[in-house]
Amino acid sequence: MRLILVGPPGAGKGTQAVHLAAHFGIPHISTGDLFRANIKGETELGKLAKSYMDAGNLVPDSVTNAMLEDRLTHADTAPGFLLDGYPRNVGQAEFLAEVLVKKSISLDAVLELSIPNEEIIKRLSGRRVCRNCGTTSHVIFDKPKVDGVCDNCGGELYQREDDKEEVIANRLSVYSEQTEPIVAFYKNLGILKAISAVGEVSEISANAIAALK
Ligand code: AMP
Repeated sequence: MRLILVGPPGAGKGTQAVHLAAHFGIPHISTGDLFRANIKGETELGKLAKSYMDAGNLVPDSVTNAMLEDRLTHADTAPGFLLDGYPRNVGQAEFLAEVLVKKSISLDAVLELSIPNEEIIKRLSGRRVCRNCGTTSHVIFDKPKVDGVCDNCGGELYQREDDKEEVIANRLSVYSEQTEPIVAFYKNLGILKAISAVGEVSEISANAIAALK
């Protein structure tokens, strides 16, 4: 199963990706998580990506494409993969198509999570992430048992720089200008499925699995 999850920031791609990857037994590959791991590890790639990410802009394609192509050489991708947050523009979608042709494999489906902008702003501005394990919570909708402490591992919860309100507006315009055109790209290929990303997490997962079957 080779899948792509596409949707605006805050649609819940990360949350749904974890469920879908477990359901289909494939690795969850998030380019945002790969960049954040590089920032945490203070690598050259992390230093380069940080300024773009903090401003809510896309990291340049040359860097992102090389990182993704490398990730797809790992043995765990043999049974398939779920891409979350990649491709983010038509250039990346075209690059991915070339990589897949070289490997003689193809995509099975692209799942679009759709959600109104007002809902996105509520979700992102209250989102908190564990510095240690990356688990997300929300100050209103998914409160941790102890303020500022991760329920999963006891790590410190923080607000991503790009979840601050002034950056969210830029991320939404980057999405509509640069990422949304890939929806039409995959629709033309006949592999696009779309579901609503509003509602209970479990209900959205069930709809996602039904759409992919
Ligand atoms: P995410 O965790 O998917 O919301 O990504 C966080 C940030 O990482 C984005 O706002 C971009 O700055 C950067 N990023 C993640 N994936 C990509 C990508 N495919 N192309 C360019 N930048 C990306």
